[in-house]
Amino acid sequence: MAHVVLHLSMEQMEKLKSYYDPFLRENKPAGSIFVAKLPDCTITAYRTGKVLFQGKAAEKEASVWQSDSTDRSEKQKKQHNWLPPASIQNESVIGSDEVGTGDYFGPITVAAAFVSREQIPLLTELGVKDSKTLSDASIITIAKQLISIIPYSLLTLHNEKYNELQEAGMNQGKMKAMLHNRAIINVMNKIERKHDSILIDQFTEPEQYFRYLQSDQNVVKDVYFATNAEQLHISVAAASILARYRFLQEIDALSKKCGMPLPKGAGNPVDKTAAKLIIEKGENLLRQCAKLHFANTEKAKKLANRMRNHSSD
Ligand code: MG
Repeated sequence: MAHVVLHLSMEQMEKLKSYYDPFLRENKPAGSIFVAKLPDCTITAYRTGKVLFQGKAAEKEASVWQSDSTDRSEKQKKQHNWLPPASIQNESVIGSDEVGTGDYFGPITVAAAFVSREQIPLLTELGVKDSKTLSDASIITIAKQLISIIPYSLLTLHNEKYNELQEAGMNQGKMKAMLHNRAIINVMNKIERKHDSILIDQFTEPEQYFRYLQSDQNVVKDVYFATNAEQLHISVAAASILARYRFLQEIDALSKKCGMPLPKGAGNPVDKTAAKLIIEKGENLLRQCAKLHFANTEKAKKLANRMRNHSSD
């Protein structure tokens, strides 16, 4: 029999309990808070936070609450066995980070960079810090300097290839894992001295990262993961600047190709620009400059239809 287990907070379980109120049973097993019996699914919620869905509709019922469950694992993400020690900030480290994953237009870029402990003061002097806190102009200035002083690898997953992989069933997490691993290997091959540590700016749980790479022959396993890793070692901040720099260059090139400036992110301006692109240049161009599976594509198509209808009124 199909079954799915979710881990929820007490608050979320109360929500479930009132949602399934018409189906609640008097008899419940020891340690449980409630049992709800639907025609094709039995739901048992335990005091430990575990909620068990059993029966034909288990997956369907559980999927309604899945996002609540993920929120919790987001909060828990910080506690794992791959966290770096605080002393890492003074070590010689290969750091990696990516850009462009949440942007509809433009590629994903991933960078790994090696910063030896002797170079830390120089990079600090250059103003290397979290790329999210820097203007595009400073990113360009700093990146141009970084390129000549530190070993790095900078990879670009262009939109056409991204769409091809995505349509073949690969998720973004796996693409990122493969790119981080590849960039790190490239840097390891470039440097003559041995690094002390490798630090990845965490985008998924470490177990999941290694699962994504399980069919890969060459996986670097001796790595640390941390969220906001650019604050833990300057090599990650340097990687984030390089990745952002490349992303900006790519967006510029794509904007020229499309004949209009392509906005970053995935908000309303993106929908409008994509709609304009569909009308002026045809839908096919999106494949070369956007991540097609984002909801923006459908929104833009609808918007384009409305704009066409409106102009023919
Ligand atoms: Mg990051």
